[in-house]
Amino acid sequence: ATFGNLSARLTETLKNLRTKGKLSAADVDGTVREIRRALLEADVSLEVVKEFTGRVRERALGDEVNRALNPAQQVVQIVNDELVGILGGESRRLQFAKNPPTVIMLAGLQGAGKTTLAGKLAKWLKEQGHTPLLVASDLQRPNAVTQLGVVAEQAGVAIYAPEPGNGVGDPVKVAKDGVKEAKSKQYDFVIVDTAGRLGVDEELMKQAANIRRAVDPDEVLFVIDAMIGQDAVATAQAFQEGVDFTGVVLTKLDGDARGGAALSIRSLTGRPILFASTGEGLGDFEPFHPDRMASRILDLGDVLSLIEQAQQAFDEDEARKVAEKIANDQFTLDDFLGQMQQLRGAGSIKKMMGMLPGMGKMKEQLDAFDEREIVHTEAIIQSMTRAERQNPKLLNGSRRLRIARGSGMTVTDVNQLVQRFEQAAKMMKTVSKGGMPQMPGMGAM
Ligand code: GDP
Repeated sequence: ATFGNLSARLTETLKNLRTKGKLSAADVDGTVREIRRALLEADVSLEVVKEFTGRVRERALGDEVNRALNPAQQVVQIVNDELVGILGGESRRLQFAKNPPTVIMLAGLQGAGKTTLAGKLAKWLKEQGHTPLLVASDLQRPNAVTQLGVVAEQAGVAIYAPEPGNGVGDPVKVAKDGVKEAKSKQYDFVIVDTAGRLGVDEELMKQAANIRRAVDPDEVLFVIDAMIGQDAVATAQAFQEGVDFTGVVLTKLDGDARGGAALSIRSLTGRPILFASTGEGLGDFEPFHPDRMASRILDLGDVLSLIEQAQQAFDEDEARKVAEKIANDQFTLDDFLGQMQQLRGAGSIKKMMGMLPGMGKMKEQLDAFDEREIVHTEAIIQSMTRAERQNPKLLNGSRRLRIARGSGMTVTDVNQLVQRFEQAAKMMKTVSKGGMPQMPGMGAM
């Protein structure tokens, strides 16, 4: 997919970090350098890359990372934050006119996907109970009107177009008449498809500006093909000067392009990305959410919300105490029980596990996970003596049998618990050194 390479690179870079505990300035610099390289290779414009890496570096060397329980995870959080930031921060919704119809004008190069987008938008609006009217103001490309007619039919919406065979009409007049038609027939949205140009062309740019002036749209959407790479920036800037626009639509995000345009355009034009187009079908279309796009690029699943929950679950003092115990090999079954109880307090363990990256495939295993196990664990540990809880090495065969009877479980259950405890202690020792936990059976992350 579009961000495949970038995604792999960034994930790899950040994964390397996660095996570290405290981060040195050299670690941060190395990571930032890798991020910079990955972004440049993805065709993100140099200006944006500099800004981005500058901010990541500054924050990564700052207090928020120093003080963090797990500095590496904090860096992941920062990269994610900054990615969301360059993609525009908050999602921006379509602006509706106070008095319908809401007029949306589409602009962009020929082949960017404007006509297709007109159909997608119309279908999407119709599904939400609106009544859009498509207006064919692209009178340049011989087939454009017919093509718009086809997508209108596919979307099941109305179209306003000049009579065929009337020669080249006046696109500004068509746009104006289209809006008039919408008002009189009570359509609540008008989508004006305009003529594309192969390159940035003065004449056509003027025409688009005239259409804009004539219909005073609520939104002017600049449609840009994500595959055109570095050229996207110059094109966007030319359209911004020539017509100006209120928002951006990225098309062909399903392609193999490097996608840098997506990451550059918001910063360089200051205009939000409203929608993403991901295929030729009218359904291949979605509102653009910077946060979702960022986590798709980072490919970290919801690891950040997992970190948040874990931070809520373990208050810091407690966490420090436990960390010390772990470091000194003094982690006991009592502590183990305490941790499990805290985890349960933070919500379902299953839910937490579900947020770990790469867990999609592990669904079966997840479903097999049973919170009743915690109850059983409690029963077993509570059947142990204080001495046994402090020092599991005391647990010989006859003690295990006694505990099994006392808790109503089997000796095998007791054995498994002790084994799990030992694994957990080992795992937590890794975590306390700054690595990510290797949960049994989950493989490396
Ligand atoms: P226009 O000249 O700007 O009106 O562009 P069109 O709507 O005619 O689209 C140009 C070509 O790109 C057509 O073949 C579309 O089917 C295709 N296209 C449009 N959007 C997408 C998209 O999101 N993904 C892919 N793969 N193709 C698209």
